[in-house]
Amino acid sequence: MEERAKHFTRVSSVLRQNTEIYAEIITKEMGKPIRQSRHEIEKCAWLCDYYAENAAEFLKDEIVDTGAEKSYVAFEPLGVIFGIMPWNFPFWQVFRFAVPTMCAGNVCVIKHASNVPRSALEIEKVFIEAGFLENVFTSLLIDAKTAREIIEKEMVDGVSLTGSVGAGSEIGELAGKLIKPVVLELGGSDPFIVLEDADIEKAAQAAVKSRFLNAGQSCIAAKRLIVVEDIAVDFFKAFERRVQELKIGDPMDEETDIGPIAKNEFLNSLERVLRDAKKNGAKPHIYGEKPERGFFFNPVIIPAASINMEVCNVEVFGPIAPIITVKDENEAVEIANSTIYGLAAKIWSQDLERAERLAKRIKCGSISINGMIKSDPRLPFGGVKKSGVGRELSQYGLRGFVNIKTVVVN
Ligand code: NDP
Repeated sequence: MEERAKHFTRVSSVLRQNTEIYAEIITKEMGKPIRQSRHEIEKCAWLCDYYAENAAEFLKDEIVDTGAEKSYVAFEPLGVIFGIMPWNFPFWQVFRFAVPTMCAGNVCVIKHASNVPRSALEIEKVFIEAGFLENVFTSLLIDAKTAREIIEKEMVDGVSLTGSVGAGSEIGELAGKLIKPVVLELGGSDPFIVLEDADIEKAAQAAVKSRFLNAGQSCIAAKRLIVVEDIAVDFFKAFERRVQELKIGDPMDEETDIGPIAKNEFLNSLERVLRDAKKNGAKPHIYGEKPERGFFFNPVIIPAASINMEVCNVEVFGPIAPIITVKDENEAVEIANSTIYGLAAKIWSQDLERAERLAKRIKCGSISINGMIKSDPRLPFGGVKKSGVGRELSQYGLRGFVNIKTVVVN
């Protein structure tokens, strides 16, 4: 691990030295505003530093007193781990999977999303430039069918997928059949609950950031704003004021907040969700001036949204913010738990005891009180229900692909 730690420190330097190059690749491939792309690269560097400093401690043998001469738990690598990765954070998602997995002594092979091949190849080069041997990290430019054939090969010892529930279900089924360990990080429809005693201005500011970051294409975006009726009008005003300020346009422009949607076909699903909401009585408010050409989608608020609308059920990967008004905290929790997803949640209240009490009632993998959810190398990340299986990041993620070996000396 000592040797590997040095390598990861070098990976972090390579990332920081070439931030502009990598950020531009991300922005040009999938349309993320350039400031956000730079931040993504910095986060990958932080992740490498974190594991370089802490992985040895996480992988240390754990002594257990059983009455035998000596007994302990060792954490050994499994071998070759195959990752299927999405395009929405083309560097971060790959690093989040690969760095802990490689720290544990495994090698990684990835199939990146088909719309970000340059990111895939560039990431491979980052590892080589940092001094890793060839094939310790490999990007294969292959389609989904070939990816499944590779998982079937005996040399593959585990599989991790980040993406949609459909892809996760298919890969989970295959891994189960082959009896290979699997980590699935799938979608979410995170509730963002604002109670009557919340700091409305701060909540509105965080809601805008959480819902519209990366044009809404994030698994942990605040996809459903659930607001108690007493403050619904004030919250709407504070939220709308900030949405009106969002600048939509060229993602290479430093001022841009919302770039294009990553794939043309996603525009159709966003339109469909809007049509469905209107059919069910919604009156969407549409903001901003989008460029005429390109896969742009204006930010939308749907006030008085309800759970019979698709927008409150499916994972909406775009800048659409439904606001559901509820009478009290109990209804807020009920609605928060009403989807198939359980990735993350946010609660806003100045009564921290109350918020922590409610946090226990929400079925999700992470919850933030008076803040946004951000994945953080120090904390486990993953979901329950259809949002996935297993955890990434922290010591829990590091142990996702290890042989937890029991050794007893009598
Ligand atoms: P997918 O789940 O289809 O793609 C994610 C990755 O899985 C890609 O590398 C893709 O390859 C691969 N893949 C897809 N299907 C299979 C399969 N059957 N076998 C093996 N690999 C597969 O997501 P999309 O990009 O199509 O986005 C659709 C929706 O999924 C989004 O609107 C969003 O709701 C959700 N999503 C969630 C993400 C998250 O962070 N939780 C990330 C991305 C999407 P290829 O690109 O070649 O199809």
